[in-house]
Amino acid sequence: MRYDVVVVGGGPAGASTARFLTEKGAKVLLVEKKRLPRFKLCAGCLSARIVPLLPEGWESEVLNTVKGGFLGFRGERFHRRTSERPIAYIIDRASFDHFLVKSAADKGVDVWGETEFLGFEEGRTLRVRTNRGEVEAEFLVGADGFYSRVGKQLGLEKEKFFRSVEFWTEGDLREEVVIDIGIVKRGYGWIFPKGSRVSVGLATTGKENTLRVLKSYVRDHWLLNGVDIKGVKGWMIPFATERGDLQLGRDRVLLVGDAANMVDPLLGEGIYYGVLGGKILAESIVQSPDRAYQVYRKRVEGEIFPELYYAGRIARLAYTFQRAAFRMGGGHAMDRFLDLLSGRRSYKDLYKKGLIEFVISLLPFENFSHIIIDKILRRR
Ligand SMILES: Cc1cc2nc3c(=O)[nH]c(=O)nc-3n(C[C@H](O)[C@H](O)[C@H](O)COP(=O)(O)OP(=O)(O)OC[C@H]3O[C@@H](n4cnc5c(N)ncnc54)[C@H](O)[C@@H]3O)c2cc1C
Repeated sequence: MRYDVVVVGGGPAGASTARFLTEKGAKVLLVEKKRLPRFKLCAGCLSARIVPLLPEGWESEVLNTVKGGFLGFRGERFHRRTSERPIAYIIDRASFDHFLVKSAADKGVDVWGETEFLGFEEGRTLRVRTNRGEVEAEFLVGADGFYSRVGKQLGLEKEKFFRSVEFWTEGDLREEVVIDIGIVKRGYGWIFPKGSRVSVGLATTGKENTLRVLKSYVRDHWLLNGVDIKGVKGWMIPFATERGDLQLGRDRVLLVGDAANMVDPLLGEGIYYGVLGGKILAESIVQSPDRAYQVYRKRVEGEIFPELYYAGRIARLAYTFQRAAFRMGGGHAMDRFLDLLSGRRSYKDLYKKGLIEFVISLLPFENFSHIIIDKILRRR
């Protein structure tokens, strides 16, 4: 059997790449090793800027529409902001990813579930080996997540990543999310709505014992009141802060999503970037088959990397000076952040606008720093 493109991985990045490719006329095979719908550890928060990239019918996947949130410090104090319009949507990953795969199949993608990619050989075409047999392809796309086997065959390893833990419990947040800093050295804790329940978790690039920190987070948090911690699972979230961190593959073997480290280093948001990366990858293959890798890299560096870079700069400041970052959240920073999630601002904009405020918020006197911030903003 022969395909234009074989895509490995039925997560958001793989399913979207396959759909965008087929919409442009390519013959595509998607292989997913698990049986669909499959579980994926994830808080399932989609920033609203993803909407134009989603297939028709996505609204039916939404469990909660987020219109605001709390930025907390150590689960004790918090700032709260709300917005008129949706800033994010909460979905269940098993159902949402299945929906994306079904949408790709509806467009004509051949989907092989419970099929594991085993390796590839390069010749005039690529020979792609799976546990269901071998196929030929012009291009191979690795959208196979953190432990990408396609990436491993290219000799790639993950260097920068969050370790994260998550569990679901009873709770009612409906339209708001909670993000708490001051809990781990470099990272944050979250409580997100999940339909009529909540997802509780934390992500860190530090060396803490995540389970121990999660327990004290839950015990002390004003919203959780020490609920039972059951069914905690852990997983890694890779990210990129430098151009060289992007692992995009080579020649006719290309990577996207977590496999490519296409995740923001501030929050670990990967779904939006994986889907956007899939669109860019599909366009690069279809429009420039002879230079697909070069075009793909150039476009990712121009259209995705600046966001990851500035998110990384914000992360470095915010996680090093967490008390100051929290103080700053009481000013205009949170409104700008909501604008970012809804697609009306970029991380670059956030970084540049917020830098002066941030320096001021390093001052120890909270009220005094707010007076200065207001004066500066009025002068702008
Ligand atoms: C606890 C936690 C919370 C998170 N919360 C959020 C959030 O709220 N919002 C957000 O945007 N991001 C979040 N993320 C990050 C997000 O989950 C990832 O960035 C996203 O899943 C990346 O999508 P992907 O398609 O690249 O990879 P994945 O979703 O990991 O999909 C990869 C697929 O490849 C398949 N596969 C792997 N190997 C093979 C093989 N050899 N053969 C065939 N198939 C294979 C896997 O079974 C899997 O289905 C979170 C991550 C974690 C761990």
